[in-house]
Amino acid sequence: MRTLIRDVDVFDGEHTTRRTSVLIDGDRIATHDDRPADVVVDGTGKTLLPGLIDAHTHVFDGSLAQALTFGVTTELDMFCLPANLARQRASAAERDDMADIRSAGMLATAPGGHPSQLMAALGDAAAFGDAVGAFDTVATADQARAFVDARLAEGIDYLKVVIDDGMVHGADLPVLAPDVVAALVDAAHANGLTVIAHAITSAEVEVALNAGVDGLAHVWIDPGPRTPELVARIAAHGLFVVSTLAYFEVIGQPGVGAVDHAAADSAIHAVHTARALHRAGVPLLAGTDATPFAPAHGAAMHRELVLLTEAGLSTEEALTAATSVPARHFGLTDRGRIAPGLRADLVLVDGDPTRDITAIGAIVDVWRRGVRQAR
Ligand SMILES: [Zn+2]
Repeated sequence: MRTLIRDVDVFDGEHTTRRTSVLIDGDRIATHDDRPADVVVDGTGKTLLPGLIDAHTHVFDGSLAQALTFGVTTELDMFCLPANLARQRASAAERDDMADIRSAGMLATAPGGHPSQLMAALGDAAAFGDAVGAFDTVATADQARAFVDARLAEGIDYLKVVIDDGMVHGADLPVLAPDVVAALVDAAHANGLTVIAHAITSAEVEVALNAGVDGLAHVWIDPGPRTPELVARIAAHGLFVVSTLAYFEVIGQPGVGAVDHAAADSAIHAVHTARALHRAGVPLLAGTDATPFAPAHGAAMHRELVLLTEAGLSTEEALTAATSVPARHFGLTDRGRIAPGLRADLVLVDGDPTRDITAIGAIVDVWRRGVRQAR
């Protein structure tokens, strides 16, 4: 099956080309030739983009299908228990009506540490099946190697470490000691794994930086005198940061989740930190922390793009943060851009999101691995 999308504006993951055409051949983007296409799509007045990559999600049954309807063609899951992960992966490989998945699998946290309290709360709801339950933890540095080996056996794509004393969630939780974080990072790097840290205060970010992580799963939300120094260190060491501004917007709303006043101003502070990171040239990856609750898979990504522009990114920079930048930092060499040979993960929208970011919500068509989705 060959599909030609013609007379369309194309944002290729980095730049915009006006009024051009893109050929899909099977599951790939192809080079133009003289053979006729089976299907021709008129792209007049529309913009074609690479499928969006959400760089921070939590996948439950139904999440990947929901994401795809909003043009999110790949989700980077940041915590998934083994049985659930195996099922989501098998579905995403087999079916074309859901987003693709990469995952951290089981995250590394202290015994009783975040997110044990959230899992305990969800554990009462039988509806979540094998997506919630008990999970491995790490108590001491000498357990780090065995923990990473177990995750490698489960086939994780990257390692996530949690450095969170619970303060922002209104709790007081055990947290990984700095030497344990460092041992986990060393064990992961020895096996070629990228390490991403959940750290949401400047003190926690400092532990992550000292341990040598590759990226942060959130911005931090206690802006203060330490922020410029942390931003400079992050820039100097070439780390990436996943934004999750939509998440902080949600937890900052009264009456949502287990939140105290520490979280009330989190959205404003998150945008402030994102702005400082962007100004320093730190790569920001659009991520939402989507769950089956809020933020929602797919829809939250559109909101995240708006919030990134409020943090000072241009519209094209925000779209880059949702396409080529996460692909580059997570080694997804087959996607995130529109170029011959890459996967035909594509989104067609009415209007021009490179000028008005809200146009990303006006989705006309989504192709996943070359398969046009029913709408
Ligand atoms: Zn998360």
